Amino acid sequence: MLTDNVADVERRIQEACRRAGRDRSSVLLVAVSKTKPVSDIEEVMTTGIVDYGENKVQELSQKYEVLPRNLRWHMIGHLQRNKVKYLPGKTVLIHSVDSLKLAQEIDKDFAKAGLTADILIEVNAAQEDTKYGVSLEETEGLIREIAPLPHVHIRGLMTIAPFTDDPETNRIYFRKLRELSVDIGAKNIDNVDMSELSMGMTGDYEVAIEEGATLVRVGTGIFGARNYNI
Ligand SMILES: *Cc1c(COP(=O)(O)O)cnc(C)c1O
Repeated sequence: MLTDNVADVERRIQEACRRAGRDRSSVLLVAVSKTKPVSDIEEVMTTGIVDYGENKVQELSQKYEVLPRNLRWHMIGHLQRNKVKYLPGKTVLIHSVDSLKLAQEIDKDFAKAGLTADILIEVNAAQEDTKYGVSLEETEGLIREIAPLPHVHIRGLMTIAPFTDDPETNRIYFRKLRELSVDIGAKNIDNVDMSELSMGMTGDYEVAIEEGATLVRVGTGIFGARNYNI
């Protein structure tokens, strides 16, 4: 049962918070529902979870249309500029901004809707060739370029750590991201706040919480393995 999975994830989150001396309320669990049917989300909703993550605009929009309006949709995947126009009003947070051009497109399309987009800057903390995101070194520069856009509000940083069997190997990347976020936060850049750190997935969210994650994105641990061939 998916509700049992949620209970297990919730217990692990609470234990990680206790180890780190953090309040449970400082960590938001985002249930990553990509590729999963609406009926699965309806089951998970019975546990009280209202935050869901999707990595494709079309799928996010379709689920947004049919599910209750109290749900909060997080865009967590690589975002193409020509898809941004479908997002205003449907998403509470875009986790995956890694270029000025994308931020400008978001600014333009959210302005048209009379809205401001909350966004995170995606950082490729482990410098993997296969991943999107800016390097740790480029992050502050990009933030300074995006900050003046009036319809975009930078709320923090996001990273996808390497796939690994041993979550301890990712601790260093989570720590680097938190240190960078503290450094940038201390610079008090206008229209930028560094209150959110989106890091940790099914394999490593407990370590990420110990290192300061405020948003964990858990898919498989809640919904089970994904099948991309259907
Ligand atoms: C799919 C995905 C997740 C969830 O991954 P799991 O390992 O299934 O928990 C988290 N973040 C992003 C950006 C993803 O694309």
